[in-house]
Amino acid sequence: MPADNMEKIVALAKRRGFLFPGSDIYGGIGSTYDYGPLGVLLKNNVRQAWWRAMVQSREDVVGLDAAIIMHPKTWEASGHLAGFTDPLVDCKKCKKRFRADHLLESKGLSMKGLKEKPTLMSEVKCPECGGELTDIRMFNLMFKTFMGPLEDAANTVYLRPETAQGIFVNFANVRDTARKRLPFGIAQCGKSFRNEITPGNFIFRTREFEQMEMEYFCKPGTDEETFEYWKGFMMDWFAGLGVRRDSLRYYEHPKEDLSHYSKRTVDLEYKFPWGWAELWGCANRTDFDLKQHAKFSGQDLSYRDDLTNERYVPYVVEPALGLDRAVLTFLIDAYEEIDGGRSTTTESNKEVETVLRLHPAIAPIKAAVLPLSKKEPLTGIAKEIRAKLAERWMVQYDEVASVGRRYRRQDEIGTPFCITVDFDTPNDKKVTVRDRDTMSQERVAIDELVGYLALKLGV
Ligand code: ATP
Repeated sequence: MPADNMEKIVALAKRRGFLFPGSDIYGGIGSTYDYGPLGVLLKNNVRQAWWRAMVQSREDVVGLDAAIIMHPKTWEASGHLAGFTDPLVDCKKCKKRFRADHLLESKGLSMKGLKEKPTLMSEVKCPECGGELTDIRMFNLMFKTFMGPLEDAANTVYLRPETAQGIFVNFANVRDTARKRLPFGIAQCGKSFRNEITPGNFIFRTREFEQMEMEYFCKPGTDEETFEYWKGFMMDWFAGLGVRRDSLRYYEHPKEDLSHYSKRTVDLEYKFPWGWAELWGCANRTDFDLKQHAKFSGQDLSYRDDLTNERYVPYVVEPALGLDRAVLTFLIDAYEEIDGGRSTTTESNKEVETVLRLHPAIAPIKAAVLPLSKKEPLTGIAKEIRAKLAERWMVQYDEVASVGRRYRRQDEIGTPFCITVDFDTPNDKKVTVRDRDTMSQERVAIDELVGYLALKLGV
């Protein structure tokens, strides 16, 4: 059973140092979160797993790391300046703020329905207090700032609301340098910023977040088949890292709700504790972005096939995933509470035990080394083992409390293996390796430990 409520995840994340409220000592600021010592490892591992699958293991995708602040014309060309807006309403009574499209959706209505029947909004009341709502105002989600010392319109720049545009404006640079034939993709991971009206659900929706996007450039006419491939890829990637397939599903966007650039959009959704919600969006962006940037920049963003001599503007299929949303998904899905505990024998010791069944590839700590006594020679041997394993993986050394307690501490943060150095170790040069999920124990020679773990961890 994955976690059934967010409070448990938020509490574990804070207690064990995965995530803290941002600027905590000042009381926090608008839904920002800071990744703690374990959180940063988990996030890095998820990013690396994505990079391995998306770039490293493929011959047809290259990487990129573009600047966050881009030429303001970028956002004119992409349509973000004019259209990257959310509809906002305020409650006249309790002053709470909502997204009108979310309120309409919860009543089975839509923004499109509103266009046809403008009085529809009067049927919707404040979900908090039942008060009357203001008229809808469109609100641009881009954060503005100024480049250079003068705070005027000519120096206004924006924090990017998506990483994708950094890829489009570099299409010609990559086309001319990477020696790739179409179809090929450009992938990048980085911060994006959206001044969300209603951030919430922990790190699900924040104003500053990280995206992992890949733009796959293909010949027009091959885009639909390409789309099917990346749609399947999204589900397989999560399932391959241990997420239950029955907690994942696709949502096909109705034609009338598609973004201005999209021919088709399918979201991979996860069953979060509050309901199904978007995790990873796959969009057929057609040749919209490249054509717009070609128009606004005056540059040639077409592609010439050197085998057939054909020239065309590629179509683009984009799988776009939020890194923080992926981290949240893995935490929720891996979380398990076991009533009465698994490893205790005496009734008095029984309590709720938490196990984070994270896939070994993303677990923050790969192994913990636990000497059975706080004295030499066991501590010395254990510290040597820790140092040896640390050349390759994140490992912890822990000599405090009973070994059962120490197992639980590691189970709770998802450490796949615990290595116990016991009183036989100085003689037989072997340790006991305990598996987090099965709790089975195996005696392994110290000399063979690195190879043993490499095989089991797969990283
Ligand atoms: P939503 O409908 O949830 O606002 P979106 O459709 O606007 O999302 P996209 O523009 O498709 O999102 O962004 C791609 C991915 O980036 C999303 O699937 C999500 O994982 C992530 N993402 C988008 N907005 C946020 C946010 N405010 N906080 C965290 N992750 C986000």
